[in-house]
Amino acid sequence: MYRAMTAMAFAGESGFTGPIQLSGDPKGATVLILGAGLAGMCAAYELRKAGYKVQILEYNDRPGGRNWSLYGGDTYTEMGGFTQKVEFDKGLYLNPGPWRLPYHHRAILHYCKVLGVALEPFIQVNAAALLHSTKAFDGKPKAFREVQGDFNGYVAELLAKSTQQGRLDEAVTQEDKELLLAAMREWGALDKNYQYKKGALTSERRGWQSDPGGGLSPAPTPSEPMAMSDLLKSGLWSAIAAGMIYEFQDTIFQPKGGMGMIGKAFGRELDGVIQYGAKVTEIRQDDRGVTATWIDSKTGGAPRQARGDWCICTIPASILSQIPINVGGPMKAAIDAIYYDASIKVGLQFKRRFWEQDEAIYGGISYTDQPNSLIGYPSTDFFSSGKGVLLGAYNFGPSAFEYAAMPPAERVAKTVEYGANIHPQYREEFETGVSVAWHRVPWTMGCAGHWTEELRAEHYDNLCAVDGRILLAGEHASRLPAWQEGAILSSLDAIRRLHQRVMAS
Ligand SMILES: Cc1cc2nc3c(=O)[nH]c(=O)nc-3n(C[C@H](O)[C@H](O)[C@H](O)COP(=O)(O)OP(=O)(O)OC[C@H]3O[C@@H](n4cnc5c(N)ncnc54)[C@H](O)[C@@H]3O)c2cc1C
Repeated sequence: MYRAMTAMAFAGESGFTGPIQLSGDPKGATVLILGAGLAGMCAAYELRKAGYKVQILEYNDRPGGRNWSLYGGDTYTEMGGFTQKVEFDKGLYLNPGPWRLPYHHRAILHYCKVLGVALEPFIQVNAAALLHSTKAFDGKPKAFREVQGDFNGYVAELLAKSTQQGRLDEAVTQEDKELLLAAMREWGALDKNYQYKKGALTSERRGWQSDPGGGLSPAPTPSEPMAMSDLLKSGLWSAIAAGMIYEFQDTIFQPKGGMGMIGKAFGRELDGVIQYGAKVTEIRQDDRGVTATWIDSKTGGAPRQARGDWCICTIPASILSQIPINVGGPMKAAIDAIYYDASIKVGLQFKRRFWEQDEAIYGGISYTDQPNSLIGYPSTDFFSSGKGVLLGAYNFGPSAFEYAAMPPAERVAKTVEYGANIHPQYREEFETGVSVAWHRVPWTMGCAGHWTEELRAEHYDNLCAVDGRILLAGEHASRLPAWQEGAILSSLDAIRRLHQRVMAS
């Protein structure tokens, strides 16, 4: 999976080696930046520091773009006209877009530090979280640790058996065979006969039927492993690979108080630079500069114009492809070629944190084969006695389109219905919910740019090339699409090349 993701550039090295240095005097050159997401604001922040005059036009009335958190009292109107009023209690939020920052995304972590955005751990893998299939084990969920323990155990047992039966003689030397057997025993919790069997050894991996106690309490009862065939047929094993993916390995972070804290911090830094509520409707360049025509994004009204010697456009390609822009054929073809993934998130507020209180699930993710796909537990405020917000659904592809086709109230109701098959407490404890279907978000119309190998070979370089006085930046113009790191890296690369041009001219 990782190799496939790398090929499509979904995963990869960050390439950030330290703060950008733009030396030399740009002599008051002006840069018009379109979009106040992380790519646009990073460009503005660094270019202003280097002596440029910068201005940003932004559709929304807030900074951050997809870097966004929804809190109680917020309203959000999607394409098609549905307006949702978020009714979460104070301090509770949903990150409808980005929610995790891998430790090797050095550029975004650098800006969190520079901007004073406090970070806390994000829990990706939780052994106590649940794996659920409607088609296996009578629809009853299993703990992640049970599935992982049994899967590793059976694989180790089979490999040990093949090794002992001499079936790997051609592939493994005699010396390595012994090492492999020792490794399988340890990794898979096998007994002295290289078998994965009910007992203390396996219960220390998959959990006990009844846990060890103190004093004269009864001895702990070992738990019964699932039958290997049932486990294989269940498909639950597919979820245990998630935490092995580069971006989902420890340590992962999240901003305290919501992912949107990063956008807010950039926005504060760029006070006075951003024209909010400005919907760009046309971009025209000539040999001296670039003019963007814009209207008020809520009321429309008379078109206005902004101009710069140069333009960095970070408007998502899904939107930009619909805006008249006089760039060359190759760049225009690239803008038009990028497909945007569908995705949906649903946040649910409950009267109490039953997943912690009843099931000892503190953070992490449960997976299901139902259309809601997963349940994300908050990685913060553990043991607090008040309410809590779960990520009740997060999916892509056909399920996301199906979800997006429902009115928001129905999406929430469906999510509660699916979740109740995993946590029956949902029925009693649910209070309120909110959903964001990314294809219906007016300013991105999709979750993130989706590159295939073929598209990248044909269009990527043209998308990122300087076209006259225009450069594009944003996650879609990076080798790390669908990550904030990609947005920042693309921005840094664009301003580096812009600065070279300015210095050379
Ligand atoms: C569901 C989801 C989950 C994600 N998970 C993660 C994650 O866990 N971690 C992570 O790091 N990343 C994640 N991402 C990806 C991350 O959100 C993006 O890569 C990043 O925020 C993109 O930044 P950007 O500046 O390129 O684009 P944006 O943030 O989209 O900024 C573009 C800006 O352009 C503005 N704009 C659009 N049209 C116009 C117009 N006509 N006129 C003026 N302005 C306009 C928009 O309002 C927006 O502010 C996720 C994204 C989604 C949707």
